[in-house]
Amino acid sequence: MYALLKPEHRLVRQLAREFAEKEVKPLAATLDEEERFPVETIPKLFKYGFFGAAYPESEGGEGGDSLAYVIALEEISKVCATTGVIYSVQAGLGMGLFAKYGTPEQKEKYQKGAFTDKLVCFALTEPGVGTDASNVQTVAVKDGDDYILNGTKMFITTAGQAEWYIIIAVTDRAKKNNGMTAFIVHKDAPGFSVGKHEKKMGIRGSATCELILKNVRVSKDDILGKEGQGLKMALASLDSGRMGIATQALGIAQGAIDETIRYVKERKQFGKRISQFQNTQFKLAELQTKVDAGRMLVWRCAMLKDAGLPYGKEAAMAKLYNSDVANLVTRECVQLSGGYGYTREYPMERMMRDAKITEIYEGTSEAQKMVISRAIGVK
Ligand SMILES: Cc1cc2nc3c(=O)[nH]c(=O)nc-3n(C[C@H](O)[C@H](O)[C@H](O)COP(=O)(O)OP(=O)(O)OC[C@H]3O[C@@H](n4cnc5c(N)ncnc54)[C@H](O)[C@@H]3O)c2cc1C
Repeated sequence: MYALLKPEHRLVRQLAREFAEKEVKPLAATLDEEERFPVETIPKLFKYGFFGAAYPESEGGEGGDSLAYVIALEEISKVCATTGVIYSVQAGLGMGLFAKYGTPEQKEKYQKGAFTDKLVCFALTEPGVGTDASNVQTVAVKDGDDYILNGTKMFITTAGQAEWYIIIAVTDRAKKNNGMTAFIVHKDAPGFSVGKHEKKMGIRGSATCELILKNVRVSKDDILGKEGQGLKMALASLDSGRMGIATQALGIAQGAIDETIRYVKERKQFGKRISQFQNTQFKLAELQTKVDAGRMLVWRCAMLKDAGLPYGKEAAMAKLYNSDVANLVTRECVQLSGGYGYTREYPMERMMRDAKITEIYEGTSEAQKMVISRAIGVK
């Protein structure tokens, strides 16, 4: 399959794989164990241009495309899902919103830094608002040329580490879904603070925090896109976000298979390597087939996006399928590795814990089924 890729995509894969093996993998278990943010690796992701992989050189990117991005993201996620989600949220959500909706001034002020050293958060979810995103409670009230924001956001990836926060808030409740707006808030804005840091089952090195907004003043110049279009923009950007999480799930699954193949070729029982049992061979053959099918769904999304075509249904399908496969694959890989696979001496148990979130964030699997069923006309 990789043989079908253009030389530039094969090169991206090789470089990303080398980077992942050398810089990301050695830290993965420690980040999980210590539940700490990869402060060593993120500056290197900036330095080597990973975040800009799919953005034009004229804007500060590397001049690649979405296919290059998902190829790189799979390689990173194969060895560390924590680093994978940070990469995906930055490149797929935050930077995607700046690129699509930012004014030239905003691109200069925010997007440039997002290529070089500044992380960006995307904050839609609230304590009482998850799948039903239309029910946002954070409010933005006009005050001259500014808006005053009040509310609480929940479960925000990279919170506390980011420079900029894209906050979805209600500007006109009467307009319902057309009454929400995206605001860019700086980390040091008076009244803005990062609250509780969640302790999680997996992706434990990524920061997931509450955001508290108490009378935060934001200039109208820091509205991203048009007033009232915030929810629409947020949902559209989730297409790209979902392609990223589908890729993260794909990487987790492939990483688990790769580790398990290494293990079963070493471990002996009944005088044979475990890899010599037909059960092991058939199981891994089935799992790899599913992972390859998932990769095709991810690449289809990337190709549609690169062609400028709609890919919302395809992104939902890629996420639904790959997250399901990642959970199945990692569970089976722990099983194939027996008791050792259950311990933290091997990465399979971490991968199994990491896989679960891919069925939840950027829309649960049930939410993906809503998107797909609507798109195929089932009412
Ligand atoms: C680690 C982590 C990182 C995250 N990062 C971010 C981030 O950076 N930015 C951000 O804005 N959000 C983020 N989120 C939030 C995430 O997107 C939400 O958790 C997710 O969308 C689900 O919302 P919820 O948790 O409120 O679940 P709920 O909406 O309460 O859903 C609970 C269950 O009910 C089901 N359900 C809900 N409605 C329906 C329905 N109509 N039909 C059938 N089933 C339904 C769901 O599928 C799910 O199984 C993150 C969450 C986590 C855990």
